[in-house]
Amino acid sequence: MTNVLVTGGAGYIGSHACKALSKAGYTPVTYDNLSTGWEDAVKFGPFEKGCLTDRARLDQIFAAYQPQAVMHFAALSQVGESMREPGLYWHNNVAGSLCLMQAAVAAGCLDLVFSSTCATYGDQDNVLLDEGCAQYPINAYGASKRAIEDMLRDFEAAYGLRHVIFRYFNVAGADPEAEVGEFHQPETHLIPLMLDAIDGKRDALTIFGTDYDTPDGTCIRDYVHVCDLVEAHVLGLNWLKEGRGSRVFNLGTGTGFSVREVIEQSAAVTNRAVPIVEGPRRPGDCTRLVSGSTGATADLGWQPGRSTLTQMIGDAWRWHQSGHYAK
Ligand code: UDP
Repeated sequence: MTNVLVTGGAGYIGSHACKALSKAGYTPVTYDNLSTGWEDAVKFGPFEKGCLTDRARLDQIFAAYQPQAVMHFAALSQVGESMREPGLYWHNNVAGSLCLMQAAVAAGCLDLVFSSTCATYGDQDNVLLDEGCAQYPINAYGASKRAIEDMLRDFEAAYGLRHVIFRYFNVAGADPEAEVGEFHQPETHLIPLMLDAIDGKRDALTIFGTDYDTPDGTCIRDYVHVCDLVEAHVLGLNWLKEGRGSRVFNLGTGTGFSVREVIEQSAAVTNRAVPIVEGPRRPGDCTRLVSGSTGATADLGWQPGRSTLTQMIGDAWRWHQSGHYAK
């Protein structure tokens, strides 16, 4: 079996990636400090607790498992927090990734798949974003991810560390078999908050802004099913293994949905009313974030076939009703 080191494998996207890797014949080795992840979510391979900034521990893991590649998900990812505590983001995300990349190079593990974000593009409202767009992040989270992208390019030039960078749009949904799913504490994302409101775990969903320059006044996002997203990572890993070289891919479908459209679909899928309150804009939100790239479909052969609102909300709802992780 081929080991793949999965940093952040106990988190939402990382745990789905572990399932996809194990289905594809790899052994995912989760490395996670459980700061936002859940040990219960590690179901498809070994678990090693540790921080990205702990070089001695990383050296030990590389020596013990001899992974052939790294999938790097571990990161802090809350925009608001990154503005209040940027030092946390520069330390955990940037210094942590630097330490990981140095350990990988020292171990001779030279293929890395990296979890980046459309937040690196910043606020380019009404532009369909492709990989060639300028990157001017407007928050410390996006800035930290852009810095890691820059490090990867330098590490390739100097040390031959090959990489596939995926810039995610809005990830949603859950494993249709509900073995793993989305569970953040605190939760800040639209769909899980809405499901909480639907089944009474919170009073109502607040719509953040109804005066945007969009057809119904609410923000538009490009939602991707988490299972489609992680499938792209397996394709990206195989791309590197085939020697096809370093590359950046957006992961979005190119179709945007407004907050009100997501609410309507959620009511339809769950057959329940969604209690809503209209509130002011949330600082830092862009009007519209939609991918304008077909690179992943054309070149990687990616087919985001599960990324319909109906399936994303349906799978998230099934997971929501089936229980959660415990610390
Ligand atoms: N949103 C909302 N109410 C909430 C959470 C989110 O109206 O309680 C909106 C948010 O303003 C954005 C969209 O839903 O337009 C998606 O937000 P989310 O936090 O899920 O992802 P983001 O786009 O910030 O990465």
